[in-house]
This record gives sequence, C-alpha cells and structure tokens, in this order.
Amino acid sequence: MPLARPDDAPSPRRLPAILALGGFLAALGVAAAGAVGLFRLVPPPAPAPKLVAVLRPAPAPTVAPVAPPAPVERFVAVTARVARNQTLAQALLKMQVPMAEVNGIVGALTGLFPFNRSRPGDQLRVERREGEEAVLRFSLRQGPADEWIVERAEDGTLRGQKRPVELTTEVARVEVKIEGSLWNSLERAGEAPELAVLASDVLAWDVDFYLDVRAGDRLRVVVQKTMADGKLLRYGEVLAAEYDGSATGEKRLFRYTDPSGQTSYFDENGQSARRGFLKSPLKLARVTSGFGNRVHPLLGYQRAHEGVDYGAPTGTPVWAVGDGTVRQSGWNGGCGKSVTLRHRNGYETIYCHLSSVAVSAGKGVAQKQIIGYVGGTGLATGPHLHYAVKKNGAFVNPLKLQIPREAPVAPEYLDDFRQKVAPLRASLEGLPVAVN
Ligand SMILES: [Zn+2]
Repeated sequence: MPLARPDDAPSPRRLPAILALGGFLAALGVAAAGAVGLFRLVPPPAPAPKLVAVLRPAPAPTVAPVAPPAPVERFVAVTARVARNQTLAQALLKMQVPMAEVNGIVGALTGLFPFNRSRPGDQLRVERREGEEAVLRFSLRQGPADEWIVERAEDGTLRGQKRPVELTTEVARVEVKIEGSLWNSLERAGEAPELAVLASDVLAWDVDFYLDVRAGDRLRVVVQKTMADGKLLRYGEVLAAEYDGSATGEKRLFRYTDPSGQTSYFDENGQSARRGFLKSPLKLARVTSGFGNRVHPLLGYQRAHEGVDYGAPTGTPVWAVGDGTVRQSGWNGGCGKSVTLRHRNGYETIYCHLSSVAVSAGKGVAQKQIIGYVGGTGLATGPHLHYAVKKNGAFVNPLKLQIPREAPVAPEYLDDFRQKVAPLRASLEGLPVAVN
C-alpha cells in the first residue's frame, strides 16, 4: 500500500495516497464508531518487523539513520453501544466488523449469551491489530456482573466465555451531610442514589423526605453491599439508619429479626419504627423534572381547603400512608383524579390532582403501596399533591397527627435484641466493630 513519505509535501500527485489513508481509517472504524483508542503492547519475542501505517507525518530525520526503534504491535480498539431495535450482529456490522467475523463472534457466543437479552446500551468493544480485519478480542458488557468475551485462540478460532465475576458482600457505613438534595449529597459521597430510597423507606414513619430535609442535616446508614470485582453491584438490607435533622431531631433505627423469624425496625430501646401512618404521602423517588434541587417543596398548608400541598414533579409516586380500603378512586370534581382511603379508627386520607390512579374502589391497600402518581388534574395550577386527612368526618392537620407506634420487641427477646443491636450501633457511630 502506498505510504506518504514524511518529508514530502502533499501535492496533487500524492492525493490518491492520502485518500487511500482516509479509506484505511474508515476501515478501522474511525468514522463509524463512537470511540477509538490506539494502544501498544510489548511485542512477543522476535516478531518480523512489521509495516505500520503512518497516521500522521513524523518530523524528517536530521541525522543519519540509527537502529530503528524496537518494533511494536499496534492495536485498535473500537467501542460502541447497541442501539434501539438493533441486534448484536447489526451493531457489529455498523462497527465495520466484516460479516465473516460477525458470524464468528455470534457463533462463539451461542449458548453462552442469551441473544434475546441484548439491550440498547450494551457496551461493545472490538480489538484488532492495526490494518487487519480479523478480530482479536471482543467484549459485550451489560453491567458489573455481566460481561461476555470472545478471543482468538492459538489455532485461529474465536472462543467465547462469560467472564467470571467475583461477587462479594460487605457491610458499609455511609454518612452524608445534606447539601442541596439528598440525591446529590449521596452522589458526592460516592454512593448510588438508590440508597436514598432504601434509607427513606426505613425511616418513612419518622421522616418526611419531602418536607423535613434541611441543609446541614445528617444521614447515616449501615447497609449491606454486593460487590462485583470490587464495584458496587447492588445494595442489600439497610441494617441501621439514622437521620439527624433540624426539623426531625435524631431518629435512629435498627433492623432486627427476632428468634421467631419476624423482622422489623426498632429504635435502641426496642420501640417499633412502625406506626399506623407514614410521615409522608409521597414515596421518595427520583423523577426527572424541573423540581430537581428543591429541598423544601411544601407549597403551603391552606386552611381554606384543609390539607397540605406538596409541590412535586408529575409522576412522583404517591403511596398509601396506612393499611386501608379504597373508598373512592378516579375523577372527583376540583380534586381531579383522586384516591380516598378509609383506615381504622375513623381515619380517611385523600390524595388529589393525580396524573393517574393505581388502585380501584373497594380494594384493600397496604401501607407503602403505590396508589397513584402526582399530576395537575382538577383545580391545580401546577403539578402537586393535595393531601388531606379526616378523622370521624372532620378535616385534621396532616402534619400534626399523633399516630401510635406498633408493638415493641417482646420482653422475652429484649436480651437478644440488645446483643444484636450493639454492634450495629457501634458501626453506625463509626467505631471499628465487625458486623455480621
Ligand atoms: Zn391543595
């Protein structure tokens, strides 16, 4: 193949060579793929010196030629992601992998990779020797624990395998000081935002994560983590959680399984975390919308219509604050799409302006069950939840409800409880104690 000599100025006569180089770059997938990396490896013993394409003119030599630099093998890596409605084979062809190589890769993965589970966003990487079409190595990555690799064996055939991943579990302590949103605070601490959802579910009887969160508050969590090759794959159970806030005071809870197998959350004295009602009618969720960083989205408690307005993005999940039955679900005048639940002890809860409802009249609902989603239906100027509570037919202030806790740890289990909670408390406080 014609190569431009570095000391030649481009001239019309040389144009075909430059175009040929351009075609060569295209063959490497430079133009077609998302990212290209060039890298070198130390050469195996004594390979024949190899003609290497010059991608960029080098400065002309100023002294007599000395020993040429040690020959290096140059490799090209091309990465891309599977697009929507694209098969793996189509994605590979788009990465300029020749059909014969595509067939080799697909063949090597048959029986290993479930092709019907190929998804948009799957990460693909193809490695080749520079200037060659044959694939040396291919990898398909779906996540930290799911990666498939195809490599060219000594005999020239392509061999596939699912990369073995080492899964480990650990118990981690996370502490964040809230600045901006809870999500951002966790992200700054190197944690995934899902931890906010897990922690808020545990603290849901004591902390309204839409109203009670203030800058400077502290969240501490002792949580199980499953790691894949040292990277977070998923969180497990929250073993202890503490919220210390200016609006909430200090709330500290521990997960405890009693000898009869019942698991729940209790404070240090064995009092139950659970109450008949949750603190908030909104389940903490990350909904992408302009609301992002609002720390304090309460629009106001308006006596005129007896209830609380929570400013929240359309689509924010609304959950049943307590066990009950659905008295009404659907259109309800100025309340828009709404749900009314009837609970024990003469309580009713009303949820207005929903974008959609998720329960039907007459059905039973459990505490924390999603009953609908925030919207702006009915007499609403923007997306928000109007939440109201009635007791024996009369409106009461939802923010001032005093709902008793459920049963504490049974007296015969208190010793066991104290023994199991002690290391969790130490861990929560940051003391170096092993937790099982
Ligand atoms: Zn309202």
